[in-house]
Amino acid sequence: MSKRDYYEVLGVERNASDAELKKAYRRLAMKYHPDRNPGDKEAEAHFKEVKEAYEVLSDPQKRSAYDQFGHAGFDPAAGGFGRGGFGGADFGDIFGDIFGDIFGSGGRRGGRRVFRGADLRYEMMLDLEQAVFGDTVEIRVPRMAACNSCGGSGARAGSAPQTCGTCGGAGQVRMQQGFFSIQQTCPECHGAGTVITEPCPDCGGRGRKQEVRTLSVKIPAGVDTGDRIRLTGEGEAGQNGGPPGDLYVEVRVRPHPIFRREGSDLHCDVPVSFTTAALGGEVEVPTLDGRVTLKIPPETQGGKQFRLRGKGVKSVRSQVTGDMLCHIVVETPVNLTREQKELLRQLEESLESGGKRHNPRKSSWLDGVKAFFDGMKS
Ligand SMILES: [Zn+2]
Ligand SMILES: [Zn+2]
Repeated sequence: MSKRDYYEVLGVERNASDAELKKAYRRLAMKYHPDRNPGDKEAEAHFKEVKEAYEVLSDPQKRSAYDQFGHAGFDPAAGGFGRGGFGGADFGDIFGDIFGDIFGSGGRRGGRRVFRGADLRYEMMLDLEQAVFGDTVEIRVPRMAACNSCGGSGARAGSAPQTCGTCGGAGQVRMQQGFFSIQQTCPECHGAGTVITEPCPDCGGRGRKQEVRTLSVKIPAGVDTGDRIRLTGEGEAGQNGGPPGDLYVEVRVRPHPIFRREGSDLHCDVPVSFTTAALGGEVEVPTLDGRVTLKIPPETQGGKQFRLRGKGVKSVRSQVTGDMLCHIVVETPVNLTREQKELLRQLEESLESGGKRHNPRKSSWLDGVKAFFDGMKS
């Protein structure tokens, strides 16, 4: 079978620029790619033809040899140069070249496949006050950073990474299995497209080293558990010159001895003696900006809530300031003296003599209990 002219195959002029060659090659390779034409022998033949033409014409040395000698310069039987036959179902390098760029499995820089560094997550424990009012906190973040000795290339100073022979630098190989072709990360270079023949002694050829970095993080006022602060570019270093990832600082607020936070409201328990609850009075309650006096009206029951408007938290999201809710806890007196016990018994007798007036809740509850048992009997 006589070979078609390479320029003709690609449909370009003999003086076509590299960019024109590449454009024509991409268009045709996409058109004839085996994945798009499963089982089509003719398309496969076209695909190989296009690939071969481009391999020659994209290489300045081979192109000038081709211009001078034509196909003879590449025919192994004629003893020319080049790498011999182009047969076999090796679509690996072309696939990585075309589809890698389009589908974004990492861009390229200087012929090497580049990877963005990983994002990092850092859990930051804060006191409630820090979360409410904001703060600046220093954190120490262990991460992978670019190696200084080799500038992140992984190659010993003075040496350079070599194009991977297995995948031709694409970082991906295609395996043909029956009707299917499977794209795989190149087992030789693990997707880098290059192999390091002389590894950098500092990082062992990885191009990155573990380091612990101290960062100063500004906590905005009003954050709460679960909020995330993003520090752009403070994640792990990219590979082969790729951009770094981001660092996400995730806020956790420690339990506070007095306050519980729910959204922008604060809750707190306020213990009150039972005489204050009965007679009324005043108690001091803490808020985040100082103490305030809370009036307890007479005959206040345990579990009653009092709302202090605007004494909650200004949420970082809504910028609305919440309230503080004081939950009254009536405290039963303990460690009573004999005399105090006697006074309480007298008080109890006096209350009992008043019938249901003094304990309306207890009385109605007892009535309910009695009705329940009566209902069971009948
Ligand atoms: Zn290094
Ligand atoms: Zn490879």
